[in-house]
Amino acid sequence: MMDDIRTLLARCTLCPRECGVDRFVTAGYCHGTHEVTVDLHQLHSGEEPVLSGTRGSGAIFFSNCALRCVYCQNHRISHEGRGRRCSTEELCDIMLDLQDRGVHNVNLVTASHYAPQAASSLRLARERGLAIPVVWNSSAYEKPETLRLLQGLVDIYLPDFRYCDPSAADRYSLAPDYPVWARKAIIEMFRQVGHLNVRDGIADKGLIIRLLVLPGLTDGIRDILSWIRGAIGPDTWVSLMGQYYPAYRSGEFPEINRPATAEEYEECLGYLDELGFENGFIQEVGSCAEYTPDFTG
Ligand code: SF4
Repeated sequence: MMDDIRTLLARCTLCPRECGVDRFVTAGYCHGTHEVTVDLHQLHSGEEPVLSGTRGSGAIFFSNCALRCVYCQNHRISHEGRGRRCSTEELCDIMLDLQDRGVHNVNLVTASHYAPQAASSLRLARERGLAIPVVWNSSAYEKPETLRLLQGLVDIYLPDFRYCDPSAADRYSLAPDYPVWARKAIIEMFRQVGHLNVRDGIADKGLIIRLLVLPGLTDGIRDILSWIRGAIGPDTWVSLMGQYYPAYRSGEFPEINRPATAEEYEECLGYLDELGFENGFIQEVGSCAEYTPDFTG
């Protein structure tokens, strides 16, 4: 396995950027090297209720990111690389420590550019007694072959689906190919874990797709929901997020330099209804701060 990781990172094409760098020598577009960097791990009570439950979700926030969202609310971690190096053993220990603290799941946040190393730590943690579900919390800007490294190790996929429109994906995340890759990634995630399974109010396997309502881009939500309905079905669990607020470089983009309005969020709720989605979660507009979305079922 270590040889496999070495090969993958020596000419990295793990994500759609496919920059091909040797991560033992330099960082890629994502700013990630061969060394995993983690900012913090904590009990997180603001995720969707089926994830946070009563004892919290064990969130581990990975540094750096291959997506370059101009409105990123976690930019100090994702863009500026805040965090500390973490070996395979240390990452395994963090997961086991979170389990010991009683969380319902281990929640890996933005780990896509470290997928082989995360898989290695997960395998070790399973050998050492990690028994709770593992959540992969990602942007969906991911390649199916990279996600296949996680098969059998991840129980719950929690991807965003940000854009169907390549020009919006280019303008706000510097990734015009995002819609193509997000569709492929979500289909692969669904192939691995299927629809969400909830037992006694807590999710133990499956897919939840997060849709962030961006100001002025409500048509995009309708397009995304139409695609989900056609590709995976209206039984898919979706989480409609009203937490957008202008952050990071939003001021350079006047049209998104404001929160989404209650009317825009209501419009998106109407699309859920119109397209027959019944499983999922909704939020109050502007209801959350960094890391702490609050949802109702
Ligand atoms: S994971 Fe990072 S280094 Fe690898 S292809 Fe993507 S951006 Fe480049």
